[in-house]
Amino acid sequence: MSARVISGKEVAEEILSNDLRLRVEKLKGKNIVPKLVVILVGEMKASASYVAQKEKFAGKAGIESEVRRFEDTISEEEILDEINKINTDSSIHGVIVQLPLPKHISVTKVLNSIDPSKDVDGFTPSNVGKLFLGEDTLVSCTPKGIMSILKSADVNLTGMNVTVIGRSNIVGKPVSILCQQQNATVTMCHSKTRDLNAKLADADVIIVAAGVPKFINGDQIPNGAVVVDVGIHNIEGKLCGDVDFESASKKASAITPVPGGVGPMTVCALIENTIIAAERSS
Ligand code: NAD
Repeated sequence: MSARVISGKEVAEEILSNDLRLRVEKLKGKNIVPKLVVILVGEMKASASYVAQKEKFAGKAGIESEVRRFEDTISEEEILDEINKINTDSSIHGVIVQLPLPKHISVTKVLNSIDPSKDVDGFTPSNVGKLFLGEDTLVSCTPKGIMSILKSADVNLTGMNVTVIGRSNIVGKPVSILCQQQNATVTMCHSKTRDLNAKLADADVIIVAAGVPKFINGDQIPNGAVVVDVGIHNIEGKLCGDVDFESASKKASAITPVPGGVGPMTVCALIENTIIAAERSS
């Protein structure tokens, strides 16, 4: 079997053309230009690259984006002050803090200080709680992007067995909840899971967010499963995911590539969340 490769890049472009640009035009007709602010602390190369991708996609959607850059010596208080200013600025609809932050700054404190209505990363307790309860909210971007990619590939999750590897707050936990809400039976695996292969054996869909390069290979994937690879690693200048694409694509029926899979969908979800926040403000 040779898997269908689901291009997140193409799906994101389709969403951009068929949905996001139209919604932005409609908002502009009401004199509202959606605006995203990104807080970037320090000089990490990977963070700068992710932020550049977000700015580029924002530009393509026709929304405004601004990156506020700070030295990594900035104090926690100064960041909290900055977020407070953004919270009260009605021209800004969404704000994200690019992670990681320097060690002397509490990520929890900083994220919790964001006004939930502008929390377009969907990380505040209020938005996470609403997601858990199945209420309308700003859903965090990577899980939201994964659900869009599955939808675009016509994967109907009702009754399916979904195995999620990873239980982080930003990927594993929220994507598990979203899959359950679409009537899947979800198995959540993590670093303490016994016999991971047994948990994969009857999976219809496998979502891998372990943060370990090429952690899952074709031998562990049942014939015909759909594989979503969330991981992203730069190994000697070459990008790869948490899945060994070559062997996995011989067993899966469909698979997301790295790069060009979940990454662009995450960026697309961020821009959509900013548009949603602007729509709600109108
Ligand atoms: P994390 O490090 O916070 O969590 C990793 C999870 O994997 C943990 O819950 C851990 O228990 C589990 N895990 C680790 N080793 C395991 C093992 N041997 N067996 C089973 N489970 C194991 O990572 P994260 O923030 O969720 O990110 C995961 C990966 O996804 C990383 O490579 C990250 O760079 C990538 N990522 C990509 C995007 C994107 O937009 N493409 C977004 C977020 C994260």
